[in-house]
Amino acid sequence: MTTPISNDDIVTLFNNMAAMLEIKGDTVFKIRAYQRAANTIDQLSWSLATAAVNGEDLKKIPGIGKAISEKVQEYVATGHVVAYDRLAEELPPNVLELLEVPGMGPKTVKAAVDELGIGSVAELEQAALDGRLAQLPRMGKRSAENILRHIHAQRMRSDRTPLGIAAETCAAVTEQLFDACPGLVSLTPAGSLRRWEETIGDLDLIAISENPAETGPALAGLASVRETLVQGDAKTSVVVDPGIQIDLRIGEPDALGAMLQYFTGSQQHNIRLRDYANRQGLSLNEYGITVVDTAVTEKFPDEESFYGRLGLPWIAPELRRGADELDAARNGELPNLITVDDLRGDLHMHSDWSDGKFPLEEMIAAVAAMGYEYMALTDHSQGLGVANGLTPDRLAAQIEILRGLQDRYGMVILCGSEVDIRADGAMDFPDDVLGMLDWVIASVHNAMSQDRETMTNRIVRAMENPHVSMIGHASTRLLGRRDPVDFDIEALLQTARATGTAMEINAAPERLDLKDTHAARARELGVPLVINTDSHHTDSLSNQRYGVAVARRAWCGPQHVLNAYPASEFLGWLRAPKAERAARFDAMVAGARAGSAA
Ligand SMILES: [Zn+2]
Ligand SMILES: [Zn+2]
Repeated sequence: MTTPISNDDIVTLFNNMAAMLEIKGDTVFKIRAYQRAANTIDQLSWSLATAAVNGEDLKKIPGIGKAISEKVQEYVATGHVVAYDRLAEELPPNVLELLEVPGMGPKTVKAAVDELGIGSVAELEQAALDGRLAQLPRMGKRSAENILRHIHAQRMRSDRTPLGIAAETCAAVTEQLFDACPGLVSLTPAGSLRRWEETIGDLDLIAISENPAETGPALAGLASVRETLVQGDAKTSVVVDPGIQIDLRIGEPDALGAMLQYFTGSQQHNIRLRDYANRQGLSLNEYGITVVDTAVTEKFPDEESFYGRLGLPWIAPELRRGADELDAARNGELPNLITVDDLRGDLHMHSDWSDGKFPLEEMIAAVAAMGYEYMALTDHSQGLGVANGLTPDRLAAQIEILRGLQDRYGMVILCGSEVDIRADGAMDFPDDVLGMLDWVIASVHNAMSQDRETMTNRIVRAMENPHVSMIGHASTRLLGRRDPVDFDIEALLQTARATGTAMEINAAPERLDLKDTHAARARELGVPLVINTDSHHTDSLSNQRYGVAVARRAWCGPQHVLNAYPASEFLGWLRAPKAERAARFDAMVAGARAGSAA
């Protein structure tokens, strides 16, 4: 499957063309045309490539003329643009790489290339370090230092892998290793993956095997291995596609607890735990717990017995951040964390009526197969009217079909929509259309570069709409690809509480939005959270586990998550006027606590 061309891809293409023309010294008119097109496309809430494929007239869009429209068509049809390739050939290689460094505009890149002969980011870094860069016109010491910082930040970012990709890689390698190693008994991920961090550094795996000697060579021999870094009895390190380092260690069954604990981290958690052990005359290492006085090392087959030896209950890996978890464990105050099995519904997904891949009934059948009590079908609103978002008429038709399917699946099917929050905070459907819906998600899909105040006010205005049930993927970030929008999260969560609006934990692994710290603040403020997959494909319904992990890292129990409540309680909340929802949710949380204590 080829990756579809996104609006971001097209924006990058035109911004690059504008920059290359500027470096070449082309006419301002031409440069501005590409910049204007890039800006326009950046603001669209629908897929330009889809519109192009559907044969729609792109010239209807202000800022897109004949030449630009043809280049979009060419890009979508062939995957590249001849004019772009020609420009790239005329300039020194790596010019684009230099342009991607924040602070390096076209003029600076031109000067760096012409006057300093710089052809790569590594050479730019050197020039920044030895002071040559600062001497360029309009540069100076401060700007050169900033550029150096950006280079380092970029390198840090590219060294870590988004959780979803790391988890998929781990699953694939695990399957291949079990095939290759008949003696393999268990293979357990440790490290940041086991803690469900947003991004993963190296992938740590711990193997228990009846034939330990076969395990390392088997890993090194997998087809996906690019490079073998270390191959020894205790540890094998390789780099697999797509560039993830795997450290595989061989454990002993009777000592697995200490090893798993040690390599799960976090570093900060382990430092605090070590201090805690030291005060009891004990020392920790990857093989066990040593009594300092006698120098005897005790072994532990699992983490429960390891923590137990320290007088602590087992601490879930998601909580091991070196924050308050040790105090909570000691005081018997660890939260009863939500699990995947607690979820009773999924309230954000798309069918092929908008940009999903499956027809309504296939999507609904797949949700029913998850064993849920309720769901909401939430195709996109019409946006700017060109791509596949639903018009009010199509929405009315969809609602009628959904009502007709209501009794077929033994599950409550809510008629919903994911409605754009326009740049000024107005909803993309008028109130009478929103009033037809059971469940309204309000999401930002365009104009993402608004300043903090404008963006905050925009989302606040959406929350104040009496029909808006929940804010979807509030920050709009895409891990490793798109930075979050700028907003005042405290103001948003306070408003969510005051208006009775729920906040989504979007479980799509490239989003994880809200992120853990924001979700924790929502929990503290009594804002109901909803864990949704935002599925565009039936396979994605199982991504709910990534959202559950975010909630667990935010110390959430099932009582904090709306779609962990039985249908009757969730629908009771939803049918109450928004002004009454905060009090109702408080009562639900209190009731759930009393229930679990009984
Ligand atoms: Zn969305
Ligand atoms: Zn969506």
